[in-house]
This record gives sequence, structure tokens and C-alpha cells, in this order.
Amino acid sequence: MGQSALRSSLDGQVENAKMLGLHLSSTTNHPADERRSVKRCWECQRTLPIERFQVDRSRRDGLCAICKECARVRRAAYREKNREKENALARVWAKRHRPYLRVQGRLYYQANSARLGPMKLAARNNRKARIRGAGGTHTAVEWQALCEFYGNVCLCCRRERPLARDHVIPVSKGGGSGIENLQPLCASCNSKKGDRAIDFRLRANNFMSSP
Ligand SMILES: [Zn+2]
Ligand SMILES: [Zn+2]
Repeated sequence: MGQSALRSSLDGQVENAKMLGLHLSSTTNHPADERRSVKRCWECQRTLPIERFQVDRSRRDGLCAICKECARVRRAAYREKNREKENALARVWAKRHRPYLRVQGRLYYQANSARLGPMKLAARNNRKARIRGAGGTHTAVEWQALCEFYGNVCLCCRRERPLARDHVIPVSKGGGSGIENLQPLCASCNSKKGDRAIDFRLRANNFMSSP
């Protein structure tokens, strides 16, 4: 590099410094620290303090492009969309596997009524009802008493078969699991009744009170 070239290079650096100085002096109305303390959100276009932005190290300024508030709205919308999608898929699956589920449910019930015994079964049924928001509970003793009251037979076919707790008003229609909404039915009558509200206790009571 020649003498003149070096000089012009130095001049250039001085020029650069001058420009920098000019630039810095032109921003005295907006000090650098103040400019860094706020940021415009891409979504809502508001200029907000940087505390209102999530840290994102992959970005040049280390902050998310949209403010926390907008990010929250986006997340909620995404979750909502996904939930609908998942629920729809679950419904399709359940519809397609209905016969399978029916058999599984029956097998589960048979396996568990033997394993769990009446106490735990009552607790399980109560829990299920609570979860569905139907409300109402009963104890194993109440259930046994009810079965004995009706002669330990199915109130529909009157046969002596293993008895299931049938909800007079089905749980799907808002019926609770209180003892006042239960009647003993065998598994086959219980499944035939489906989700209809049929009170077999009325007929049984008439039958019992007739001479
Ligand atoms: Zn925003
Ligand atoms: Zn029956």
C-alpha cells in the first residue's frame, strides 16, 4: 500500500468516525438504551416494553417477533383447533369400533365385578358418575339392599342372573348414580334397554303389592 493510499484509508476511517459521531449525536433525542427498551409487535403493531416479549435466542434481537399477549392468543387458537380435530378423530374411531367397545366393556365388567367385589364396584360406578357430572352416589350396602328388596332377580325378565346397576334415567340423559335412580337388571336386559328411560321398579312394585 502506497503512502497516498494509506492516507486516504485513514481519511476514510476519520470520515467513518465522523459519520458515526453525527449518527450518534442525531440519536441523542432517542438514547440507545431507550430504543432497546421497547419493540414493535408484528401482530398487534403496538410498541411495547421488551419485557412484554418472550425471549427467542434464534432471532437477531433475542426476542420473539410478537408480544406475549399475542403469542398467548395464538397458542389458545392453535390448541382449540387441535382439540376439535382430536375430538373428531376420537368420535370417528369410537363409531367404527362400537361393536368391539361393547364387547370390551362387557368383558371388563365381568372381569372386574369378580375381582373388585361390590364395595369397589360401587366406588367405581360413583366415580364414573361424578366424572360425567351426573352427580348422586350410593353405597354397596344400599345396592345390596335394593337387590334383596326386589328378590335378587332382574326386574325386567325376572330371572336370577348376575345383576347390573341400571340407571332408570340413563347417565347420558342426566340421570345420577343415587340409589333412587338405580334398578337391578341382568346384563342382557340392561343392554336391550339401551339409553331409554324405563322404570321397571313401578311394575315390580305393583306386582309385589298385588295379593
Ligand atoms: Zn402483540
Ligand atoms: Zn333380565
